[in-house]
Amino acid sequence: MKKKVVSVMLCVAMTAALMAGCGSSSTETTSEDTSAATEETEDTAAETEDAAEETADTAEADTEESAGGTLVMGTNAEFPPYEYYEGQEVVGIDAEMAAAVAEKLGMDLKIEDMAFDSLIPALSSGKVDIVAAGMTVTEDRLASVNFSDTYATGIQAIIVPEDSEITSADDLAGKTIGVQQGTTGDLYASDVEGATIERYAKGMEAVQSLSQGKIDAVIIDNEPANVFVSEVAGLKILDEAFATEDYAIAVAKDNEELLDQINTALAELKEDGTLQAIVDKYITAE
Ligand code: GLN
Repeated sequence: MKKKVVSVMLCVAMTAALMAGCGSSSTETTSEDTSAATEETEDTAAETEDAAEETADTAEADTEESAGGTLVMGTNAEFPPYEYYEGQEVVGIDAEMAAAVAEKLGMDLKIEDMAFDSLIPALSSGKVDIVAAGMTVTEDRLASVNFSDTYATGIQAIIVPEDSEITSADDLAGKTIGVQQGTTGDLYASDVEGATIERYAKGMEAVQSLSQGKIDAVIIDNEPANVFVSEVAGLKILDEAFATEDYAIAVAKDNEELLDQINTALAELKEDGTLQAIVDKYITAE
């Protein structure tokens, strides 16, 4: 019983931390929160459960305790509308989808923000349980991780200055192309004949470089491209794009059980319209 109460209280503390708008670092329960929670377990169980219910109601979350522990999601929160910061908090399609999956699994979600090319190593070393980062399913990545069923598609788009002479992918030959390091955009750019590749930690940095005339084009996923082009003046997205890709949640190779649970949760979220509602919240149809 006591164990149950403690876990409920931890859940309350974490939900409270989340609601306070604390982001990736502060979604962790601080030792202060934990000791406060432990102290409160000395109060009656009834009171504790009331508190849990109240917090969960406000958060519009399930009132169930998170007996399943914490699901740690790795992401790179520089990829709107899939993941980005709103104040201190990581929000976006992936963050909400993963929260919905975690809820189905009876777990609390914790988000770890890191460089995009650190995500697969973090999964392999067990630092994170899943990666939800608008990550494209590729043969190369499948050699080191498993992917869930796909939950979205992305298109590699080409961004150029409004007055650019580049009008198609073929015109990229010999040009200087900016990409986000380690992404599929990086892979495509590396295949362009005679091109010089400038690799950036963040997609937005590549776009800023483009607007300053330091590079000729940026290859990046279409949804972040839409966001960046709306925020930086003088740029446009070419009609012609590179391949369409599938986004999926990555899980460590040796974690088949979690992969199955995620696929079941995803299927339910697709079926009941939750996933579409999350997408619609972040992407307005044109
Ligand atoms: N979809 C691209 C990839 O998987 C980019 C993802 C990202 O930058 N977050 O490489």
